[in-house]
Amino acid sequence: MCGIVGYVGSKDAYPILIKGLHRLEYRGYDSAGIALINPAGKLNVYKSKGKVTELEHFVEDKDTSGTTGIAHTRWATHGVPAERNAHPHRSNDGALAMVHNGIIENYLEIKADLTAKGYTFSSETDTEVLVNLIAERRKTEPDLLHAFAAALREAHGAYAVCLMCRDEPGVIYAARMSAPLIFGLGTGEHFVASDIPAFLPYTRQVIFLEDGELVR
Ligand code: GLU
Repeated sequence: MCGIVGYVGSKDAYPILIKGLHRLEYRGYDSAGIALINPAGKLNVYKSKGKVTELEHFVEDKDTSGTTGIAHTRWATHGVPAERNAHPHRSNDGALAMVHNGIIENYLEIKADLTAKGYTFSSETDTEVLVNLIAERRKTEPDLLHAFAAALREAHGAYAVCLMCRDEPGVIYAARMSAPLIFGLGTGEHFVASDIPAFLPYTRQVIFLEDGELVR
């Protein structure tokens, strides 16, 4: 089991996401990471092997500004515990970042198709394959919600995913299929997480997503 936390609102996302990861540490994990869109529109991704505190040390001198972000603690299923396999994973075009819990069973077929189209992969994960499939579908379906849905129709398995796009600050996407994912409604801010404790200090209005549902 891993942990997913997503935040969109008007506050600095970084402290909220890190606190959320700490509150999900009980689930067990081998690495951690975070993605944030800074006020200039740059998508910054930081990750490290080991504990969330190690990620915090790693980003001490980095730009952690931004009010939109996603974060993850990984329990490796595809590829060893290592910084390169830690989430978030980016699409080749650098526009998308995604965190994922679970497995994509047919990722090898999808990976072969994408490789034939010129995509390259820097990790062994099924997650990096899925985020690039979304990027590929976005070429013909510019509305990211529809491209996300199209990619998920092709990906088989059990998953919870949270996605963000450099071109869409102020927006996060999430979906689930046979893996936990919860949506938290705040005032002027929203949350996504694997479990309620991640956002309990901020809201008690919770929606339990059903299998096959997407959230923007
Ligand atoms: N299958 C993904 C990976 O190996 C996600 C693992 C998880 O649930 O943390 O990176």
